Amino acid sequence: MHPLPRSLDPIAGESLVSYLQRLAYRIDVSPLHLARIAGLHGWLNNSPPARAISLELGREQLSNLARLTRVTLKEAEELTFSSWKSHYPPIKNIIADNGSRSDSWLFAGTPRFCPRCLDRGAWKKEWSLPVVFACSEHQIFLHAVCPQCARLSERPWQLLQRPNDHTLHPAQCRQTTPDLADRKRKSTACGYRLDRADISGLGIDPVLLDFQIAITRRLNPQSAPEESGAYFTDLRLIMALINSAWPHTSTLIHAELVKDVDAYIQSETKTRSGPLGSPQRYRILSDPPRDARTCAALMQAADALLLSDDLPESLPRFIDSPSAESLG
Ligand SMILES: [Zn+2]
Ligand SMILES: [Zn+2]
Repeated sequence: MHPLPRSLDPIAGESLVSYLQRLAYRIDVSPLHLARIAGLHGWLNNSPPARAISLELGREQLSNLARLTRVTLKEAEELTFSSWKSHYPPIKNIIADNGSRSDSWLFAGTPRFCPRCLDRGAWKKEWSLPVVFACSEHQIFLHAVCPQCARLSERPWQLLQRPNDHTLHPAQCRQTTPDLADRKRKSTACGYRLDRADISGLGIDPVLLDFQIAITRRLNPQSAPEESGAYFTDLRLIMALINSAWPHTSTLIHAELVKDVDAYIQSETKTRSGPLGSPQRYRILSDPPRDARTCAALMQAADALLLSDDLPESLPRFIDSPSAESLG
């Protein structure tokens, strides 16, 4: 494998998808073409191994990528999620079964984003984790979707939308705009410059910002992996409990965000409801909300309950009445 005539330095914290997307744009090829040159077969399509590849590369894949792009092995490895494997259980689980199952606690194709950070053109790895709902550098909530099209990928596990499109800047929205009028026409991308998205409504309360910083600390390589792994597993369980006992648990939620959480739970229950105890029902209860604000509110409530000294006493009070009604 010959090195490319031109390359790029990775930006701290950026994902493999982001790096290949930026480099492809620089050398004017499609991300899919670059992935093929790099030997990342199956990458960017919807195949199960692609899910795992975005998280961790094998030795040979890493050294091929490093040689091709003239980066060090360490830099290549830092583009993957492998350093979080032991801290964040969904990553470990997806790698362990070679991507054959997805996990709602890991966004794949359409991460959240901070417009200010995106002005460097790089997508951060951490934006794929639902537990990262804010940018602590710019002190704002992350945008959940493109403000122009508000579309989520129809194939949530496809790592990059329109992988054959070589015209889009890395900070442009790659969601395809439906063109129902003329199916023969080539489809077009939304193309909105996400780095120019308005941030005026994204201000975050200091309490939630501190909570975000504490969460991020748990992902730090210096944090004990077993402890972080256990924390995130428990957080997920407690969040499901809070959802299942709604609205009795509303007193646990940050006062300003109770309405948001209520609207979220009502709408999820209406659109995706299943019988009590069904896997579908459990998914509603345990999936993290896409909206950063709602997600932060629920996670913070779960965290407070989890770290409280009287957890066993607090829980029955909330879960004794499953007949949740709207707060109105
Ligand atoms: Zn930022
Ligand atoms: Zn868009």
